[in-house]
Amino acid sequence: MSLQIIKDAIEGKKMICPKCKKAVQKFEKFAETIDAVRDGFNVQEIDSHASRVTLICGNDDCAWKERTEYWENYIVD
Ligand SMILES: [Zn+2]
Repeated sequence: MSLQIIKDAIEGKKMICPKCKKAVQKFEKFAETIDAVRDGFNVQEIDSHASRVTLICGNDDCAWKERTEYWENYIVD
């Protein structure tokens, strides 16, 4: 579940801001994205397992904020 992964990454300070390299402090507007696939006359909704979130750095002197589907790229091990 992506929301839990994002929460854990932020709480564990593993979501890193690309600008100041400090841990991202918060996020907002989490949303699962669903791809609609046309199959003849039917429209099937297929869960693409993608999700979009707005990441907010929140550290002093850093105004980095990004709405992204590629939030996994900002998580470090
Ligand atoms: Zn930052």
